[in-house]
Amino acid sequence: MKQMIIAIDGHSSTGKSTFAKAIAKAMDYTYLDSGALYRAVTLYALEEGLTDSQGLPDASLLTERLRDITVSFCRNPATGLSETYLNGKNVEERIRSLDVSRSVSPVSVIPRVREFVDNELRKWGEKKGVVIDGRDIGTAVFPQAELKIFMTAPAHVRARRRLDEMKAKGEEATFEEVLDNVLSRDHLDSTREVHPLTRASDAVLLDNGNMSVEEQMEWFKKIMEERWGIRLK
Ligand code: C5P
Repeated sequence: MKQMIIAIDGHSSTGKSTFAKAIAKAMDYTYLDSGALYRAVTLYALEEGLTDSQGLPDASLLTERLRDITVSFCRNPATGLSETYLNGKNVEERIRSLDVSRSVSPVSVIPRVREFVDNELRKWGEKKGVVIDGRDIGTAVFPQAELKIFMTAPAHVRARRRLDEMKAKGEEATFEEVLDNVLSRDHLDSTREVHPLTRASDAVLLDNGNMSVEEQMEWFKKIMEERWGIRLK
C-alpha cells in the first residue's frame, strides 16, 4: 500500500474522527487525533488550576508548564481503539467532557500550545502511512499531505450528533448547550490569529450533513481509485 499523509480538517463535530478511523482501518494506516492533544493540554490546565473561574487559561503559566506535559496514545486491546494518556494516566473519557470542550478553543489559540502539538504530530507523521484529523493539518502542520479533505455539515446536525454521543456515554447536556459550544468553537477556530481553520486550496470538500459513514467511505474509495489506482475493499 502506498504510504501517504492524509489530512482531514473541518468544523467541530463533523465526524472527522469516525471517518479518519474508518480510513485508517481500510488503508492499514495509523490514526492520529490532533484534537485529543489539545484536549489533553486543556485538561491539564483545568486540573492544575491554570484556568480562571470561566475556564479561560492563563497563557503564560500554561506555556511555562508545557514541559511537564506528556501525551501518548495507547491501543486498548479490548476495543482495538487508541486511547489518550496524559502523563501516564488514561484520560480518554475525561477529555471529551463539556468542561474540556468549553476551554479547549481558548487553550488552542495560545501559540506555544500550537507549537507543542505541531511538534508532537510531526514526530508521529514522519513515517507516513497516517491519517490525521484536526483544524490546520492540511494548511499548517502537513501542507505537503498527499490528500487533504475538508469536512463540514450544518451546525444543528453537528450539535445533534455530539449530543447523541455524549448521551451514549451518560453525560448530561441540553441541545442548546451543545449547539452553543459547537458555534462558539467554530467562531474561535476560524478567527484565531495562529493557524485559523480554513480550507486549504487543494483540499477536497466533503459536506456529510446527509451522508452515512458507509457513503463517506464510498466517496473516499472513489478518490483513491481515481487518483492513485488504489482499489480498497
Ligand atoms: O477535534 P476536536 O473537536 O476534538 O478538537 C478540539 C478543539 O481543539 C477544537 O475545537 C479546536 O479548538 C482545537 N483544535 C485545533 N487544531 C487542531 C485540532 C483541534 O485548534 N488541529
